[in-house]
Amino acid sequence: MKKDMFYFKKMLLIGAIGLVLYGCGPAKALQYADKATIVTQMDLVNVVDDRVLVTVDPGVFNQDTITFFIPKIVPGTYSLDNYGKYVEGLKAIDYKGNELSVNRLDDNSWQIANAKELDKLTYLVNDTYDTEQQVADKVFSPAGTNILSGENYMLNLHGFIGYFNGLKEIPYRLEIKVPNGLSGATSLKKLPTEPKLPGVDVYWANRYFEVIDNPILYAKPNTETFQINDISVTLSVYSPNGIYTAAGLKADMERMMRAQKQFLGDINSTKQYTILLYFSTLNEDDAIGFGALEHHTSTTVVLPEQMPREMLVEALVDVVSHEFFHIVTPLSIHSKEIKYFDFNDPKMSKHLWMYEGTTEYFANLFQIQQGLIDEENFYERLMEKVQNAKAYNDSQSFTEMSKNVLEEPYKENYGNVYEKGALINMALDIRLRELSHGEKGVLWLMKQLSQKYGNHIPFEDEALFNEIVAMTYPELNAFFDTYVIGNTPINYEEFWEKVGLTVTSVIEESGFFLMENIPFIDVDPSKGDAVFIREDIPLNSFLKNLDVQGGDIIKSINDKEISVETMREIIGESFGWAPDKEITMRVLRDGQPLLLKSRAGTPVVTLEVLVPMENASEKQLKLREHWLKG
Ligand SMILES: [Zn+2]
Repeated sequence: MKKDMFYFKKMLLIGAIGLVLYGCGPAKALQYADKATIVTQMDLVNVVDDRVLVTVDPGVFNQDTITFFIPKIVPGTYSLDNYGKYVEGLKAIDYKGNELSVNRLDDNSWQIANAKELDKLTYLVNDTYDTEQQVADKVFSPAGTNILSGENYMLNLHGFIGYFNGLKEIPYRLEIKVPNGLSGATSLKKLPTEPKLPGVDVYWANRYFEVIDNPILYAKPNTETFQINDISVTLSVYSPNGIYTAAGLKADMERMMRAQKQFLGDINSTKQYTILLYFSTLNEDDAIGFGALEHHTSTTVVLPEQMPREMLVEALVDVVSHEFFHIVTPLSIHSKEIKYFDFNDPKMSKHLWMYEGTTEYFANLFQIQQGLIDEENFYERLMEKVQNAKAYNDSQSFTEMSKNVLEEPYKENYGNVYEKGALINMALDIRLRELSHGEKGVLWLMKQLSQKYGNHIPFEDEALFNEIVAMTYPELNAFFDTYVIGNTPINYEEFWEKVGLTVTSVIEESGFFLMENIPFIDVDPSKGDAVFIREDIPLNSFLKNLDVQGGDIIKSINDKEISVETMREIIGESFGWAPDKEITMRVLRDGQPLLLKSRAGTPVVTLEVLVPMENASEKQLKLREHWLKG
């Protein structure tokens, strides 16, 4: 998974300141549930108040009670999302058509008595996109569901289809009644259309996991397919206002995935990959969790439709490449916790440094190795990660955080898997290159692990570091003990020095409230669109002289009360502020009002940049060459 909140923030402000613009199942012969196929039906045609009717028809049970579950959590999300909350009116129907008594045990489980009499379950499912902007514990959009009758259906199937205890390993048949004019994109196995089921798409999954591992996007056809060596890639786009098409984005996706395949070499054996790209209108009943979620042979991506093309392509490259690299880990290389994932009582693994960190690191490294970006851009990305990591606890053990990521105070540091997690891998990559005289890096390591474990054998969570050390160098023991298991922050400059890079300060001019279109301020929708000072970027000299702090809510500037609208006006005016102009700003800091004053001055920003050392040695240059060129 990859969350891309940065773009959301930027988009809010950019928008604000206007700079940019199915019948009955097969007749039931007496087939026992553990041998039968679970037949599920979803009716996308007769949508009732934004809800889809689902029917689940298992075989015959030979026990008295059975429990039906909708997942509490799905792989790749690392949060308890309780998808059962969106299910209502669950009825258990017996073979005579009467209702059996059902006891809802919690949000995600229903106990059915007289299970021997159970014919089928029926229930209605609400989508998650509708309420994302109203609820605090929202489902991350790429894992969520959308029901827009006759127009669009984002079917993350864990939100619609559940499982019976003990029956996760038997096959599922999905019958989906589809509105005219819409078609479904998915990597799920589609069966031939059956004449007795007109307007119904029929799919097959060998087990429950395959159901949830294969989301389906139903929309008006907007799909392109291309071939990358032996992988057939399908890009399916839902763009509500028709701004983006699969045809228009195909070339960029093709170029990016070709570079990824080149980078990975024979490590990957996927034959089919589907990219489901959903664009949000940002309207109050639409998705706001931007980023993507990985699956074995597909990914769901959610981004705002207003995103300008250039920014969109950059985000797509970063996000889709991240998800595709998940095929390496955790989809291929993973521990027992992941292999035997319990959707309703999950045990987390210690190795998010690898599942998310290595993945995110590769999503950047392949771009420099394959020439999609230049060195300067790569170094900027590393420094951005160093900067972003400052928002998290740098002294928290990464393995401890990972193991306990569903609870505080670990949950609040989860986002660091994309920042420090990637930097841990960068440091490990450089250390490996150093120890192997340039020969081996993290990609080599992942190939070794993949050869040893492959797709089907999980590793023991406790044994991974020892395995890696045994495959590589005893020196890595100290690396893992200190920086990944231990709580010692990494001195990145120590690692950069090995490859002849150093950090230096540069002073650049900025606007009063913007730096190259990136605002120092942001809007908080949860606080009535309060305008506040960002904590995640270095402030300019003007804001520093005013003595503002990250998190301050701006109440007024020069006695003008601040809202999103008036802030836009002030930004416009500020381009004409003379250096000696007196500026007053009223802010709320931790609820306390403060009056701040300063002259406007000429705002500059001091940026820390990563640059090549002028007098780098032959050894440093060689190591850098191996690191960046692979
Ligand atoms: Zn991820």
